[in-house]
Order: sequence, then C-alpha cells, then structure tokens
Amino acid sequence: MADLDFLIDITQRISELGRKNRNIPLINEVKPLKHYFSDDGKLKYDEIDDDDEGFSRREILARYLLVNVVLDQGPDIIGVRMLLRDVTTNLYEKGIKIFHNPLDFFKELDISINEILTRHESIKDIRAEEWAMKNNSTEQKYNLFFAQSNRGIVSTKQVLDYSIHRWGVPLSLFLLLEKDYKTKQPLIDYLESWESAEIMAQQLKDHERYGLGSAIGDKACHLFAKMYINIFNLVKNKRDNPGWSGISYEIPFDSNAGRVLFRTGFLLKLATLEDYENWEVIQKGEGKGGANYIRVTNIRGKKTDIISQESEDFIDYREIITKYLKIGMKPKSVEIQRIPNFLIYKLNKSTNYNYSIADFDDGLIYIGTNYCFNHENPNCDLCPLQNICKAHNEDEGLIKKYTT
Ligand code: SF4
Repeated sequence: MADLDFLIDITQRISELGRKNRNIPLINEVKPLKHYFSDDGKLKYDEIDDDDEGFSRREILARYLLVNVVLDQGPDIIGVRMLLRDVTTNLYEKGIKIFHNPLDFFKELDISINEILTRHESIKDIRAEEWAMKNNSTEQKYNLFFAQSNRGIVSTKQVLDYSIHRWGVPLSLFLLLEKDYKTKQPLIDYLESWESAEIMAQQLKDHERYGLGSAIGDKACHLFAKMYINIFNLVKNKRDNPGWSGISYEIPFDSNAGRVLFRTGFLLKLATLEDYENWEVIQKGEGKGGANYIRVTNIRGKKTDIISQESEDFIDYREIITKYLKIGMKPKSVEIQRIPNFLIYKLNKSTNYNYSIADFDDGLIYIGTNYCFNHENPNCDLCPLQNICKAHNEDEGLIKKYTT
C-alpha cells in the first residue's frame, strides 16, 4: 500500500473508532450543572444561553472545560475527571461556586484545598489498581497532582502548588475577563475573538494578558479546542466559519496518541527513526527500564516530505493552513502535526463522513487506553488495528524497545 493510502486508511479506521467510543468529561454528573442536561445525559442546547446566576450556561460549561483540560495533564484521564467532578460538586454544596464566583476558591482556600486532598485520596482508592496494571507501575505511585520542571510535567506532593497553579490560574483568567469584558459570557467572547480555533488554542497559552503560560501545555490547549468545538459544540458566534470547524485546530498530541501512532507505523511514514532521534522525539535509553522514550510533544514544528510541493496534495495542505487553521498564507513546508488535518480533509472530500480531529483523537485515546498499553505486553490480540499495525505484524521491537 502506498504511504498516503496507508495513512488515509488508518486515519479513517481510528476516526470511526473515535466516533463510537467518545471520550467525554463527566460534566452531566456534576450536581450543580446537572440541570443543563436531560435525563439521558444530553446537553439541552435550546437552553444553553439561559441565565445561570449572571452568566450563560454556555459560559459556565466553557469555564469547566478549561479547568478540566488544565488538570488533565496528569497520568489518568478518568481519575482527573472524577476529581474535578467531585471537588466541584462538594464545593458548590458548601456554597463555594468556583465557576460562578471564582474568587470563592481563594477566599475559602482552606476548604478548597481540603476538598482536593480528600477527594484525591478517595479516587486513588478507586483508580490506583487499574492504573498500575495498565501502566506497569505500583498503586502507591498513583498521583494526580503535578508540577512543571525542566523535564516537563512531573508528579508532586505539594497540594498548594498544584491547587494554585492548576486550579487557580484558569480561575483567575475568568476573574480577569469578567473585569475586562463585563458581559454574560466573557470567556466565550474572548475565545471567539480569534480568527480560528487554532489561533485561540495558541493564545490560551501565549497571550500576554490572558495566556495561562506554564499552567497549560500545547496538548491541553488543543484538547480544549476539541471539547469546545466538537464534543460540546459550544461555538456561538462563528458557527459557519471554517476556522471554527472540526479540522480547524491541531490534534492534541499526548502520550497515548504518540504511542499508537508510533507503534502502528503512522509516524514512520512521515519521517525516519533517525529523524525522530535527531529531533529528540525519541530519546535513547531515557524511558522506563532503559527503553527509548517517545516524547511526542517534540513533534510540533517538525517537517515531513511526504507531500511534494508540486503535487495536488500540497494545494489541499495549503487549504488547511489558510482556510481552516488560518495561520499563514503560503506554507513553504509540511509540518507533521498538521498531517491529521490534511488526511481528514482528504477523507471528507471523498466520503460523506465529515470526520473531525476529535474523532481521530478519541480513536487514539480509545486504542491507547484499552489495548495499546504503555508496557511490553499490549493487548494486540483484541486490538481493532492489529491487521494494519506495523509493530504487531512486522517489528515487535517498536513495542519492546520504546515507551511513552
Ligand atoms: S496492534 Fe498492538 S501495538 Fe498495534 S496499536 Fe494495537 S495494541 Fe498497539
């Protein structure tokens, strides 16, 4: 199979899996927000702009999702979601309405921190065993608190650092936007002031006044775009704008995605092992037990020559850059992290499926968390990708010698 055909085929399979196995934060289980949803868990869109104590429901949902993605940089997506759900519910029961009155979180910091600590312990009791099994680790190492270091994100024990840096920074953004915008939906108005979801995602981290800086990673910024646009369909003012569509932001590359894309051979169609080593996407001997470590976030900005500049395909790639991501006019090269946008765009042109980056990302999360575990014995026998997976069919070393 030609390289591009393989990439399109696997992209479609993964996107289909993503559609059928959505990865959704547990907002409909958060007690104070439950009335936003019907009994079957569906968001009541006809009420989404209704007033809820001074803000629209859309605004409160966007705030919750932003805190969710900031927290979701630790090792266990399910545990993180439970933590946010339970802490939010308990704080609201005590009258500390952190998404309606973010200042409450700081005013009652002792209560906020106690809740975070207590709920973390209960979630550890529920989640640690399964997490340890899937990650070849021990239950004692289960920890959702994390901090920034020179090596990137690391586990931390200090709840004050975690609470202020991860909960406090986005809550402070909501406060600042309230002061500056004075509308019922300051966060929505700010987000949608940008030309595209990709630019919005970049500004979430980098903007001089409103950027969250080191409190948020590139992955989390793009995860927010995915939640905002595709999973919860919160776009208000830019609904028919291609810059706010399902292919208008880059994939939130995380370790699950990186592991699956590496083992299946997807990434190796775009560059060689040597390239990845030179770019420090693969760091020799830096992984668990001396394995090679795959640091997928280092892929950002790296080039591939799979699309020649003279080809029709390059015209499609340029369309992605100019019309959807809106990050330039004349791309001179092709960047690897934008290849999924290009592949989905091509798929959508030739089918009626209208896939999105969210479909593809949810498919990768599904495979990465249910089959392609981060250890030497993933569940290849039951994996839906086994018949096209390079590691399974041709090179077991891609599993045994690499870790994320
Ligand atoms: S077949 Fe095995 S290595 Fe390949 S994606 Fe599935 S679980 Fe991972």
